[in-house]
Amino acid sequence: MSEAPSSATPYPFDAPASQALFDRAAAVTPGGVNSPVRAFRAVGGTPRFMVSGTGPYLTDADGREYVDLVCSWGPMILGHSHPAVIAAVQDAVSRGTSFGTPGEGEVALAEEMVDRIEPLEQVRLVSSGTEATMSAIRLARGFTRRTKVIKFAGCYHGHVDSLLAAAGSGVATFALPDTPGVTGAQAGDTIVLPYNDLESVHEAFHRHPGEIACVITEASPGNMGVVPPLPGFNQGLKDACQKNGALYISDEVMTGFRTSRAGWYGIDGVKPDLMTFGKVMGGGFPAAAFGGRADVMAHLAPAGPVYQAGTLSGNPVATAAGLAQLRLLDEAAYDTVDAVSAQIQSLVTEALAKEGVTHRLQTASNMFSVFFTDRDVRNYEDAKRQESFRFTAFFHSMLEQGVYLPPSSFESWFVSTSHDEQAVQRIADALPAAARAAAEATAA
Ligand SMILES: *Cc1c(COP(=O)(O)O)cnc(C)c1O
Repeated sequence: MSEAPSSATPYPFDAPASQALFDRAAAVTPGGVNSPVRAFRAVGGTPRFMVSGTGPYLTDADGREYVDLVCSWGPMILGHSHPAVIAAVQDAVSRGTSFGTPGEGEVALAEEMVDRIEPLEQVRLVSSGTEATMSAIRLARGFTRRTKVIKFAGCYHGHVDSLLAAAGSGVATFALPDTPGVTGAQAGDTIVLPYNDLESVHEAFHRHPGEIACVITEASPGNMGVVPPLPGFNQGLKDACQKNGALYISDEVMTGFRTSRAGWYGIDGVKPDLMTFGKVMGGGFPAAAFGGRADVMAHLAPAGPVYQAGTLSGNPVATAAGLAQLRLLDEAAYDTVDAVSAQIQSLVTEALAKEGVTHRLQTASNMFSVFFTDRDVRNYEDAKRQESFRFTAFFHSMLEQGVYLPPSSFESWFVSTSHDEQAVQRIADALPAAARAAAEATAA
């Protein structure tokens, strides 16, 4: 019937209600999902359709409960259904859901963000991280009157046409479209370089004098698994941009308000010209932003000539949720998230070490992921060398035991302030069998 994996998969326990929903979904939606990673293609089996979430737990359509280590890919940093966030949403909803006019909520959210992050002098709110990076690139091009963009292989910036580009062969050759539907022209102004390699950045600037509008990078990448910048890498990017009249864009859609009160900027202190945000700042709603230097942001309509707009931008319900969440995220909250993350990290390494499973657990503050490989992962090529079949076995064992991991070995794991002792204990109880499954796994 459809391409969706059938229930006749070799995976150990089934989820009939989720499978029924997945079959229904596949009839009306390509691949049965609204964002590809949710389809479990990387790990196989039936994607779990969730019906509710409370604190660190998710409940699926079959009534099974899971400790959630995805947290909606980062946003749910206070756990699911946090009472203060729910109350703020209900209060906002009771006053109406969208006005198409300015409102105080969007001002308050922007003030909270600007207050936390020194280089963020002005922000513009949008509805998704993709919109944020797309708009930041447009603004950088409009401001510099240049066309080319440097990005790094393995960094994901949403599904912006010009950023869905893969490295051509050899350093500083023009990029090739990463997907049908992106034209050579759209990808051709993108230069894709290996991550953590400053030399190739210098070479690209040397080859294209006066042509490079900006360098965009994940502040600390989490979309190829967790691959933090080597010491000095971000500063080196910033310096190269400054020297060559290009803008340094730090994509903090994932790290922003997660890795610290001021995101990754709060950790490395490298001052970007522009930054992008999403995920945590929306409190589980579609809210995102880009911003930075006031003199650059002044080029944005209606203040300046670079056009950008959005019917639901600054939506009162989304901004209420985001603001309520950010107001609860004080230093104590980050200490809690960091501590529980560290605890889970050591449980994972201990369990894998006990079974003799070669791996690298890499961290960026409270974000972390496990690579089944024998060397440090510094870029996308390294990440692709991992033994993903071990992750598949590990993932399914954890899932079966009620722990929901990201369904791909190229994703960060996320925790929240609500991951308490009981949730950590459930993870600890599940790990030995999962580590054994990883040890015994063989390549398909
Ligand atoms: C998630 C993500 C995006 C895209 O955000 P969406 O809201 O999914 O469009 C962009 N950049 C980074 C670093 C991300 O993690």
